[in-house]
Amino acid sequence: MATELLFRDDAYLRTATATVIAVGQRGIELDRTLFYPQGGGQAGDSGTLRRASGETVVIADTRKGEEPDTVLHLPATAPGGLEPGETVTLELDWPRRYRLMRLHTALHLLSCVIPAPVTGGNITPEKGRLDFDIDPALLDADRIEGETNALIARGTATETVWISDAELEAQPELVKTMSVKPPRGAGRVRLLRIPGIDLQPCGGTHVAGIAEIGGIRVLKIRSEGRRNRRVEIALSGNG
Ligand SMILES: [Zn+2]
Repeated sequence: MATELLFRDDAYLRTATATVIAVGQRGIELDRTLFYPQGGGQAGDSGTLRRASGETVVIADTRKGEEPDTVLHLPATAPGGLEPGETVTLELDWPRRYRLMRLHTALHLLSCVIPAPVTGGNITPEKGRLDFDIDPALLDADRIEGETNALIARGTATETVWISDAELEAQPELVKTMSVKPPRGAGRVRLLRIPGIDLQPCGGTHVAGIAEIGGIRVLKIRSEGRRNRRVEIALSGNG
């Protein structure tokens, strides 16, 4: 059974109630969740499930299940006594997720500052990176940092839009990432639009306005092969 993905419509939800569907060796399934499962380069969420008894189950990580739109919540220790049918209160590790959202949205900007095909990417709460198929002579850390921060300073609001698979097929230029297939569901694809800056398929969690990123710094640019360069960034503030 598909899990209702609450973060898709509202990435700012920190708490919700859900019903336990299954408790298996691979993880806990719920009828709805605000925990983002690892995917598209973004780390899975962590947090807690609180039972009616007040007991909490610590969720260390979240992964996709085998069926589309199913989510497995991975408990830090075996969730003794947790039963299907039980109602639980979900609480996200919000400071961690918010850093992921800010870094993730910053990578959308980075992909605009560096106009080259993206061959990979990864986002943890500490740092984010994109790999580019590019002539290394075109990469300059100071320029990348300055141009990305200039985009952040515009403070543009982000928008989620949905298009059909057929519409996406008609516009293949929307797909910048060669290594990650766009997240397709029931015939429709979710896009993130940053008006005037970026539009691309993405199933991740983003901030509502790019000013929330605050600012970024380039940690390093390193070679990952003859034409492959990895650009790693961190948030420049302490938040
Ligand atoms: Zn995204």
